[in-house]
Amino acid sequence: MTEQLVEDLVAGQADDWDLAGAVPEKVLRELGAAGLLCPEVPAGYGGRGATSRWAGEFTAALGAHCGSTRSVLTSQSMAAGMITRLGDRAQRAEHLPRLCAGTLAAVAFSEPGAGSDLSAITTEVRRDGDHVVVTGHKTWTTAARYADLVVVVGVEDDGGAAVVVPADAPGVSIRPVENPSGCRAAGHADVHLDHVRLPATAVLGGGGQPSRLLVTAALGYGRLSVAWGCVGILRACLAAASAHAASRGQFGVPLAEHQLVARHLAELLVAERTATLACEHASERLDAGSPDHVVAAVLAKNVAATAATRGASSAVQVLGSAAARDGHVVARAYRDAKLMEIIEGSTEICQLLLARHALSGGGTG
Ligand SMILES: Cc1cc2nc3c(=O)[nH]c(=O)nc-3n(C[C@H](O)[C@H](O)[C@H](O)COP(=O)(O)OP(=O)(O)OC[C@H]3O[C@@H](n4cnc5c(N)ncnc54)[C@H](O)[C@@H]3O)c2cc1C
Repeated sequence: MTEQLVEDLVAGQADDWDLAGAVPEKVLRELGAAGLLCPEVPAGYGGRGATSRWAGEFTAALGAHCGSTRSVLTSQSMAAGMITRLGDRAQRAEHLPRLCAGTLAAVAFSEPGAGSDLSAITTEVRRDGDHVVVTGHKTWTTAARYADLVVVVGVEDDGGAAVVVPADAPGVSIRPVENPSGCRAAGHADVHLDHVRLPATAVLGGGGQPSRLLVTAALGYGRLSVAWGCVGILRACLAAASAHAASRGQFGVPLAEHQLVARHLAELLVAERTATLACEHASERLDAGSPDHVVAAVLAKNVAATAATRGASSAVQVLGSAAARDGHVVARAYRDAKLMEIIEGSTEICQLLLARHALSGGGTG
């Protein structure tokens, strides 16, 4: 049923959506109402209660069709993950069933002055009696153009606070990022919060958590989801490059019979398998409740995003001019893949985290 829904709603549409810069909202709401944009939400909250491994394979399958729709899934899963991890019982009961019934959510932590360095976040969460007032500017928030609510990460006194902000609350304005180079239909937007006054119950878990915990809660889900999305990119590239190399002839033989072209296919296969194994490992650690799932997710993200960038580049090379313009799956993959090295902890930030893990004597689980 799940495969059929993705086939019916998404397959074959991604290039049109990419060119138009938007996924039809009806598609996102249908996927959301089927619980597929945050499949790991427990059944007790109306979700599918999927394992990370199942959710990962689904993410890869969706990502092979459409990186933008997969990005929306990643945002929704991050929002659901933060509410599950940080919210109290009432907040989980209020929000999670809605997120499995078509309500769309985004997560906003980046700011113009706080990219890799999230300790520089300045969005203020100020108490005012039994209310809070949120003021700040968030940037590049994926899915914000579609979202009904945005989980905003801010600072409050010495600690952090994650606040569930309705997108239509007075003082919220959402301005699309113009002409993104990849995942063009993912609804990236800047979120401006001008003295947004909300009941204090909007603060997940009451607030006062260390900022580091909030960021880890968001990025833990996001990194693994992006990694599985990269597996999808690699699978789409491998399929397109293999089919092209087998069917197009040059110098009297199929391209695939030229060994320098065949090498690209071999490298793509290695990239897809390596990324898949790293993602499977991270998901298994998460499903087992092992604390090393955090470092396993960083490793998977690093492996998969760099492999997707290289793999998509190889696929463009195999296709030549056939993939040299928008409207081709491989051209789209090439643009989308590079952005995966920037988000949820850039390649360099992942490397720093992995180096720190190595220096602390940590293994790979
Ligand atoms: C497609 C896309 C989707 C996004 N979605 C979201 C979202 O949903 N929510 C959200 O809050 N944000 C989102 N972002 C923002 C994203 O999280 C940031 O772009 C990311 O954290 C990097 O920050 P930056 O772009 O400011 O780059 P910078 O932090 O300025 O980094 C620029 C370069 O310097 C390197 N660098 C920085 N610090 C170091 C260091 N200490 N050592 C070595 N190298 C370093 C980086 O690796 C990078 O290569 C998105 C961004 C993009 C492009």
